[in-house]
This record gives sequence, structure tokens and C-alpha cells, in this order.
Amino acid sequence: MTIPPTHLTSAPGIAYDTYRPWTNWGGNQTATPAFTVRPRNDEETIAAVRFAIREGLAVRAAGSGHSFTPLVATGGLLIDLSGNTGITGTDKARRRVRAKAGTPIHAFGDRIWADGLALKNQGDIDKQSITGALSTGTHGSGIGLGSLSSELRWVRLINGHGDVVEICEDQFDRLRAAQVALGTLGIFLEVELEVAEAYWLQETITYPTWDETASTWDHDIDNNRHYSFLWCQAEESAPLYELPTPDSQSMVNRSYTKRYNAVHLNEAPTTSHTEGARRDRSYRIYPGGFMLPFHELEYYVPRENSLPAVEALQNLIRTRHSDQKYPIEVRWVQQDDGYLSPFYKRDTTSLSVSGAPGTHYFPYLRDVDALLSDFNGRAHWGKLHFLTRSRLEALYPEFDAFLAVRREFDPHGIFLNDHTRALLA
Ligand SMILES: Cc1cc2nc3c(=O)[nH]c(=O)nc-3n(C[C@H](O)[C@H](O)[C@H](O)COP(=O)(O)OP(=O)(O)OC[C@H]3O[C@@H](n4cnc5c(N)ncnc54)[C@H](O)[C@@H]3O)c2cc1C
Repeated sequence: MTIPPTHLTSAPGIAYDTYRPWTNWGGNQTATPAFTVRPRNDEETIAAVRFAIREGLAVRAAGSGHSFTPLVATGGLLIDLSGNTGITGTDKARRRVRAKAGTPIHAFGDRIWADGLALKNQGDIDKQSITGALSTGTHGSGIGLGSLSSELRWVRLINGHGDVVEICEDQFDRLRAAQVALGTLGIFLEVELEVAEAYWLQETITYPTWDETASTWDHDIDNNRHYSFLWCQAEESAPLYELPTPDSQSMVNRSYTKRYNAVHLNEAPTTSHTEGARRDRSYRIYPGGFMLPFHELEYYVPRENSLPAVEALQNLIRTRHSDQKYPIEVRWVQQDDGYLSPFYKRDTTSLSVSGAPGTHYFPYLRDVDALLSDFNGRAHWGKLHFLTRSRLEALYPEFDAFLAVRREFDPHGIFLNDHTRALLA
């Protein structure tokens, strides 16, 4: 792999917007930064951060704005990374890919397949920027597959001193902090991920009753590369997440289950577009995006506790929140060792629920939070949650180790906003 050296030039002229409103995908977070810049290359990003340091402005980065939490909001300088994208190198022998920080996940597919490589796993959409996804621990499903963050092997960033630095694989503390950093170490310019040899996937969609879903619990988790399901409490549930369902089949108390298993390249696969039984290159099996907005919370419990946790959540919906119609999505993620990774040293089951935009869903989400706290639940950093500093300290054994790296990289806190300062100052 040829990695070009870093050339720092003097600050080029950069176009700044002033007081341009910013809104996230879900429409529940807005901000009016004093300055917004959309760099076209690393030099412009570096110049923008140094400008902010000189002027005493706080700085936040925006990926594709798919987080529901106030991670991006700032009144200072907003750096929109969507203009600095592209795969910068691949190394098939080491199964590595480097990409500019703003590269969307969907841009990896065809490009790295051509070099015999593929992302090991993907989530429910591929619209996020790679660094936005890394920064919050974004994941797909599969008990043998880690989050995207767990695949981070190298990063080049500009820190709070205005210095461009690299974090390499032998810098364990820094790399483990960088894996899930919420934009608080600095602005990432380029990242390197470990990926897989190119592979095909076979999809199998089924619609079991809840009793059937529960009866094959461990078997399904352990015997599928990707296993996940969405449990529907009401007839209205499936359409809210645009789930295709069989004609004349009630989905009440049934699951829409997804199983994706690898088909080896030497088995000469043929593509199938049959709904529920597709066979294709890995990245074409994963969904692209959602058209309908929703506001989501996703909590993570240890795999061992997961069936009782899901049944307790179903009971909460039936007894106290029957007006809430979005399905419960259930997925699995392999443990890793990122300091702020929700999967830190525990194989995890994820449970997610959503509220309808414009409705009063917070009492429901608060009850879900209280319920899953009893299961030692951690939370998706990019989805609605109620974690406080003291709860984080109890949930993350290496919380202080993360803070030490954050303070080293950004001693004056220029990369903090109100949300992250309360949690991570
Ligand atoms: C419809 C939908 C589906 C989703 N599906 C999944 C899923 O399947 N699995 C899952 O785990 N999550 C999922 N999410 C959540 C989503 O993946 C995360 O919120 C992710 O962080 C969004 O990426 P983004 O590019 O939009 O980043 P943003 O939301 O724009 O930013 C996220 C964080 O990254 C930081 N950041 C961005 N770029 C940089 C940079 N260059 N340097 C430093 N920091 C940076 C930001 O400052 C912020 O802290 C979904 C969200 C939506 C709306």
C-alpha cells in the first residue's frame, strides 16, 4: 500500500459560511455554528482547525448527521467532512483499507471489492461517513463480528494543539481511545480499517411467532454469521420500518428475522434478487437507507441476559406503552476493547426502540432506560439515551484511561460541546 506523506501547507483560502443552520437526519438536533466550513482536502481541514484555535472557537465535526444525540451541535466552528472523501489505499495481503475521514460507507463497496476486499460487516444503512460511524461504535449484527470501531487500526488526525499526528497499532492506549471517541480527540483526516477478503452473502428472511423466536434463541445466535430480528407488537409496526411482510399474515407478536450467511467465492455463486432469499456480493445485501424518519434509542445488554431483557421490554410495551408501535430491533455484537466501546469486554445483545417524530415519546424511552439499566445496559452514543457522567463511570471500566488520552490530545477542550463536556470533560 502506498500511503502519501503528509504535506502541511500554509492556510489556503477557505470559504466559511456564517450562521448557517445545521440539522441532523432525524430533525431532532439543530445548531447555528458561527462558522461552517466544508473542506475539500486535508490542508483545508487543518487550516480550519488552526483558525479555530487562534480565534478561541470550539470545533465539532459533522459526518452525515445520522446521530440522534447532540454530538455535532456547536456555536463555534462546524467542520463538514462530506467534501473530503475517497479510498486512499488498499493492501490485500494485510486486508487493510485506508480512506479519507468523510468517505461514506457505501463508497467502500464496489471500490474495495475490485481489490478483493469487503467490510467485515455492515449495519442497517450505509449512508454514514466512516468516521461518524467509527466515532459512535456503529455496528451490524453477528455474535462473531465486532463493530466498525473494533476494526480501526490507524488514524491520522489534527489534535487540539493544532498538530497533525498519527495513532498506530503499537500505540495501544491511544488506539483504544480513538476507536470510539465521539469527535473529542480531534478531527480525523484519514483512517485505516481491517477488512475481510471479498465474500458473498445468502439472505434468509422468516416470520416466526414469538414462541418460535425464543425457542431457537442460542441456536440462531451461534449458527448464523448475521442473525437479527425485529419483533412487531402491532399491525402498524412493520410498515413503520418499511419491512416487507407476507400477504395476509398478521405480524402481531411475530418477528421479522434476518439471517445472512457467507457463500464462498469458489462456490461460483449466482446472484439472486428474490425477496427474502437474495444472494449477492456482501455489501449489496445490506440495506441502503430509510425514507421514513424515526427517533431511536439503542441499549446494549450482556448476551447472557438477553432473552429476559427482550421479554421484559415486550412486557413494558404491552402493559404501559401500547401506543408505541415501532418494532423492537434485536442484534448481536462481538466484544472488543475500545475504552468507550459499548461492547467493551462483553459479547452483547442490542435492543432498540423508536418514537415517532412529533409525538411525546420521552416517557416511553425513559421507562426503557430504567428497565435496561437493571440489565446493566450501555447505550449507543449516537442514539437517544439518558446516561450521565456517573453512570458512564460505573459502566465503562476504562473510562479514566479514555479521559487521560482525551486530555492529552485536547487539553483545552476545544473539541467539546455542551453534550460531550458534561460526559467527558
Ligand atoms: C436511519 C439510521 C440507521 C442507523 N443504523 C445504524 C446501525 O445499523 N447500526 C448502528 O450502530 N448505528 C446506526 N445508526 C446510528 C449511526 O450509525 C451513528 O449515529 C453514526 O455515528 C452516524 O454517522 P454520521 O456519519 O452520520 O456521523 P454524525 O452523526 O454526523 O457524527 C457522529 C460523531 O462523529 C464525529 N465525527 C464525524 N466525522 C468526524 C471526523 N472527521 N473527526 C472526528 N469526529 C468526527 C462527530 O463529531 C460526532 O461526534 C443509524 C442511524 C440512522 C439515522
